[in-house]
Amino acid sequence: MLNKILILSLILFFITPVDAYARDRIPNHLRSLFESTDMNVLGISDVTIFYENFSAVSDERVETAQDIIINLKEHLNYDSVPHCQNLSVKMFLLDYNTINDRDVMHFLTWSDWGNINIWGAYDSFHNQSTAELYINMGVAETRFIKTIAHEFYHHFQDLTCGEEDEQAAVRFADEFCDIFDEC
Ligand SMILES: [Zn+2]
Repeated sequence: MLNKILILSLILFFITPVDAYARDRIPNHLRSLFESTDMNVLGISDVTIFYENFSAVSDERVETAQDIIINLKEHLNYDSVPHCQNLSVKMFLLDYNTINDRDVMHFLTWSDWGNINIWGAYDSFHNQSTAELYINMGVAETRFIKTIAHEFYHHFQDLTCGEEDEQAAVRFADEFCDIFDEC
């Protein structure tokens, strides 16, 4: 169990402002991602979703993501609670190989979690007016949903200047999955 928690902590990470002091912002950090992928874009509930479009599975994942975003916002009272900053939200739904391509996703601090493959990431460091959620859609649907809940909660912590707490995000995703019974 302890191992499982540790692995979750490593895989689902949060780039904190504290981390930010130790590194430089990479200008145009998303260029390699946009250059190496063919992404579609749509908007749902003030979230811009960029997604790689390969197959019927990715279409299903995009539909699921839209439903989950709406559920998450309701569950968190997202529009009612006080926000301490304005952040536009971009969610990138990426193929397993894309999100784990160290050249494409070079702006993530891979060494911070032992350079293992990831399910998701949250970053508002490189573009400080934008919350960027990176989600691996090449996983089982239950894992996909739980990862969205986890990374979205990191965004919520950021938006409300709450404590940047990894275990709280793990707990939130578990609770969300229990309540909505989808993951
Ligand atoms: Zn996390």
